[in-house]
Amino acid sequence: RIVVVGSINMDLVTTVGRRPAPGETVSGEDFALVPGGKGSNQAIAARRAGAEVDFIGAVGDDVFAGELRRVLADAGVGVTRLRQVKGPSGIAAIVVDGAGENTIIVVGGANSRMTALAAADLALIAEADVLLCQLEIPVPAVLAAMRHARDHETTVVLNPSPVQDLPAEVWAAADIAVVNEGESASIGAALDAVPHVITTLGAAGATYRGPDGISLSHPGIRVEVVDTTGAGDTFTGTLAAHWHAGPATALAWACAAGALATTKLGASASIPNLHEIERALAD
Ligand code: ADP
Repeated sequence: RIVVVGSINMDLVTTVGRRPAPGETVSGEDFALVPGGKGSNQAIAARRAGAEVDFIGAVGDDVFAGELRRVLADAGVGVTRLRQVKGPSGIAAIVVDGAGENTIIVVGGANSRMTALAAADLALIAEADVLLCQLEIPVPAVLAAMRHARDHETTVVLNPSPVQDLPAEVWAAADIAVVNEGESASIGAALDAVPHVITTLGAAGATYRGPDGISLSHPGIRVEVVDTTGAGDTFTGTLAAHWHAGPATALAWACAAGALATTKLGASASIPNLHEIERALAD
């Protein structure tokens, strides 16, 4: 059983030929609501990869809240610890222009209000095999979850994204860190404190560095790339779901799932299920 403590938000994606100047109004071409958030995406990925998953997080009291809850519940993720708080749900207002250039405004909303954990959250973490965290909710809540997991022999997987300066206690409480190349470069030596470090390398796959200088690498799976959004979250959720089988097997599953996620448009919609990953691994 995996517990994810993290973010959930609605992406508001507007497509426009030319973005407006300050004070100007232009007609857009298209609009889509896309459920996301690293926490929610990774929870769904872990569930589709075969794990039982519970999500601890928060939505607001707006029209997006019900839909965000439904997306998790429909995927089979436990939502008994998804709370509702006053104010907006987390959102990302995304504008994609004719040149394919993105501008994104993220409003933390309910995610920013996930500052503390309740006794029932801690109980769920204590009973889990794996705790999976990212950094789209306040660090004190992440640290509290990680410490509680450590105290109860729950394996802690940290995806330190978006990258930010973290107190040394956070690194000390992580068993496994999953980073992409950019994150690895900016975090640097702090990763030395983590026993198991997995670095994703896009089309080139991923590497693993374990205790006692053990290292492994797994090549990327060749696929027809449509949209790489969500590949990292799919990789991380799948890795957490298969960590019990050891780093080599977990890396193979995560690389297959991450590659499959690039073959479809969108973040959550592109996350593969158990059978699709098994088929890719058999090829
Ligand atoms: P992020 O999206 O967080 O920057 P990466 O780009 O490293 O992370 O992608 C995460 C994982 O997804 C990679 O380790 C790889 O397994 C898979 N992946 C991403 N892009 C490709 C690709 N073009 N071809 C095959 N696999 C890919």
